[in-house]
Amino acid sequence: MTVSLEVSEVSKRFDTGPSSVEVLRSVDLTLAGGDAIAVTGPSGSGKSTLLHLIGTLEQPSTGTIEIDGIDPFGLPEKVLARFRNQRIGFVFQEHHLLPHYSVLENVVLPTLAHRGDASGENKDTRDRARTLLDRVGLSHRLDHRPAELSGGERQRTAVARALINQPTLLLCDEPTGSLDPETATSVGELLLELHDGAESLTGRKTITLVVTHSMELAARLPRRFELHDHGLVEATS
Ligand code: ADP
Ligand code: MG
Repeated sequence: MTVSLEVSEVSKRFDTGPSSVEVLRSVDLTLAGGDAIAVTGPSGSGKSTLLHLIGTLEQPSTGTIEIDGIDPFGLPEKVLARFRNQRIGFVFQEHHLLPHYSVLENVVLPTLAHRGDASGENKDTRDRARTLLDRVGLSHRLDHRPAELSGGERQRTAVARALINQPTLLLCDEPTGSLDPETATSVGELLLELHDGAESLTGRKTITLVVTHSMELAARLPRRFELHDHGLVEATS
């Protein structure tokens, strides 16, 4: 499978009652497996909106988005939900872990949706979850509840959960925004490590897109883009 992302002439406006807010105008972005980029821009510039569009959580007002050569918005709703579950991993500023489940269970959960059978989890997914949790440095926390973890450990769990279905796209929205500087640095390093090592984990290269306020995190990524005046431009330095 060819891993690709093609955003063409995408615009997004929100129509709220009589008023209309234009957020994105004519955004183009072409990425291939192995690409990792940062998207920066002031608060309210449309970073999360862009991530939601690429993550197929919202539809563009105009323009097209193709993921691995497929137009997700042309898919029936249920097929789109499965497509999203299998090809896209999300990491948000807040971890969104389920409090009553263990670390291991939280990571396994996304594999239970859209299986098309009632067999529940299998040994392979548990093993994959353990391997991932080992990679994020949490093998000693498998049976802990999220409340028993530090902020950094919770975010590491969220990263493992995002990768459990071996997505082709890893989308992160301010992934270090709630962490202290030291922890933020280590979670940033982890994201890049996992991006670079994706092929050994999943058998293919992934595309990683990180929305961030943090210039330190942005500087670690191979390419940087900035949302400016509703458009997306690649930073030259
Ligand atoms: P950022 O993540 O860069 O801070 P957002 O993408 O969250 O920016 O928001 C960009 C603009 O779009 C803001 O002006 C925000 O108020 C507006 N916006 C975002 N989502 C909605 C929505 N669902 N309805 C109306 N306006 C929205
Ligand atoms: Mg945002």
